[in-house]
Amino acid sequence: MIIFKYAGDVMHQLKKGRQNDSTIGFIPTMGALHQGHTSLLQKSKQVCELTVSSIFINPTQFTNADDFKKYPVTLENDIYTLEKNGCNILFLPEVKEMYPKGTIPKKHFDLGYLETILEGEFRPGHFQGVYQVVSRLLEIISPTHLFMGQKDYQQCLVIKRLLELENLEIELVICETLREANGLAMSSRNLRLSDQQKEQASHIYKMLLHVKQNIKTGSLLLLKKEAKEYLTINGFKPDYVEIATANNLEPVDKWDGKTELVVLAAASVGEVRLIDNLILNQ
Ligand code: AMP
Repeated sequence: MIIFKYAGDVMHQLKKGRQNDSTIGFIPTMGALHQGHTSLLQKSKQVCELTVSSIFINPTQFTNADDFKKYPVTLENDIYTLEKNGCNILFLPEVKEMYPKGTIPKKHFDLGYLETILEGEFRPGHFQGVYQVVSRLLEIISPTHLFMGQKDYQQCLVIKRLLELENLEIELVICETLREANGLAMSSRNLRLSDQQKEQASHIYKMLLHVKQNIKTGSLLLLKKEAKEYLTINGFKPDYVEIATANNLEPVDKWDGKTELVVLAAASVGEVRLIDNLILNQ
């Protein structure tokens, strides 16, 4: 694996791959890698000739300074993990390399209502930061395929929109969520949970499964209310539990029994905020 710190160098290296018409798979990450990340890498290895990953803790997508400060860093392990899983190129930039003109965005990206619902409501500005960093990374790496996790469901829709708005012909491959044995979705932030909190956090998945098993045509209001209460009873501070259309995240209060739905939740255990989701009628 070759590690690049500078945009110009990685661009130069990838130009050779592109001249040979190689498919280039890209997995952007913020590091503290776990099996969820490596599953994306493996998918890219199956589909593409070259696999590129990046590690960059993007300051512009954090709405909480403490969350940014405490974001776990395990760089040596990450490099080892990427190398072991056959990553060809790692892009490891510093902030000034990513944002040579400063971190303040020059324009507002038109994300429509995706910007203000669910994660957008509780983390204002978050998706502007995600858009900003991913568009810069795509400009540098210019992959043929982009691999992202369903775990960050709303983020996947934001990136779909980015590809449309920027007219980029990149195939977005959304990969399933990898979970611990108790159902807890793997996440870098889990490193900040105690063993007891990890057990407690498994209730998010239990709640999502409960919703999946109990969804019925008609009003969904009671099911959503019970799901949120379940999290509170189990010691969480829930931000939301929402059932929405799977293709564009419009909240659904009354189900026609046909439309494909997803249940999404965000809740804090102690100081750590977790998100998860489940498609309901696949
Ligand atoms: P992050 O480092 O948290 O920014 O995540 C980098 C990529 O890995 C994103 O596309 C995430 O959606 C994906 N990812 C994170 N956790 C998981 C997981 N448990 N299963 C599958 N993909 C994941």
